[in-house]
Amino acid sequence: MGENKIILGDNEIKLGESEIKLVSNEIVSDDEINVTNSEDSFEASLDTEAKLFVLLDSYYKITLTSYNSMAATGSGSRHCFICNTEVEPDVFKQHIDHHDHKNNMQKYKFLDKYKNNLIRQSRLTYHCAICNVIVYRSDLPAHLECNPHKQLMKQNSAITKKQRKNQMKAGLALYKVETQNEVIYKKMKEKQIIFHLRAIITD
Ligand SMILES: [Zn+2]
Ligand SMILES: [Zn+2]
Repeated sequence: MGENKIILGDNEIKLGESEIKLVSNEIVSDDEINVTNSEDSFEASLDTEAKLFVLLDSYYKITLTSYNSMAATGSGSRHCFICNTEVEPDVFKQHIDHHDHKNNMQKYKFLDKYKNNLIRQSRLTYHCAICNVIVYRSDLPAHLECNPHKQLMKQNSAITKKQRKNQMKAGLALYKVETQNEVIYKKMKEKQIIFHLRAIITD
């Protein structure tokens, strides 16, 4: 942290001028957190779709797993985008609480450029925390314009202040977060991946 230039082989990374601060992820809630002694039962019952609010310029309601950039793999496990590792369901909570993951949460903050879309970056891939999906840089503009993403953004903006207050009273946490600059990898080539958008079953 604090360095503005990182050299990775030939690829120069520009972090801009803004200093990266280590003060995000502060949980703000008027409600006291109930501490339970039954650690085991809590871990077993971690609700991966539990919601929370993120505050940037505006408020965004997303899931706990999405906030932690843990995208579904389709097999029940999650791919943690910021740690670049696969996480099994029985250790979701341990993973979220692990200091390596917490460090990565500081390292991969939402990008200032896309701050109203909750986008994190890891080299040439990006994670959208609104949708909890991972996309390549070249696909990011299309993703931000796609209907599922826009629908979720619309639903978010439809939440009234009163509704949000009530939901926070009912236990939803509010995470005040900071942003960081996008890193431009000038010399790195993106892999060409062909996405099949529709299954072909007639052949
Ligand atoms: Zn992680
Ligand atoms: Zn999205």
